[in-house]
Amino acid sequence: MTAAPPTRPGDLAKEGTVTVTVDQDRCCGAGQCVRNAPEVFDQREEDGVVLLLDARPPAELRSAVEDAVASCPAGAIRVTDS
Ligand code: SF4
Repeated sequence: MTAAPPTRPGDLAKEGTVTVTVDQDRCCGAGQCVRNAPEVFDQREEDGVVLLLDARPPAELRSAVEDAVASCPAGAIRVTDS
């Protein structure tokens, strides 16, 4: 079974909340997600792998989450409309 391609910001509606998932096996610890949305993402201290703090962030963080998706070099973040 092949993995679905990463979610692109343009795939989503323009408003409302999203459901966020992360793939820790894909994450390379670059930290772009934390820079874009520190309310939603953190990194493990020992290896920098992403930690999901809020899988259903409020609508006002949607843009920041979409920026995190776009900037993640590993394609490790997915968002779906919720
Ligand atoms: S931006 Fe992507 S690769 Fe970097 S820490 Fe976040 S999920 Fe991992």
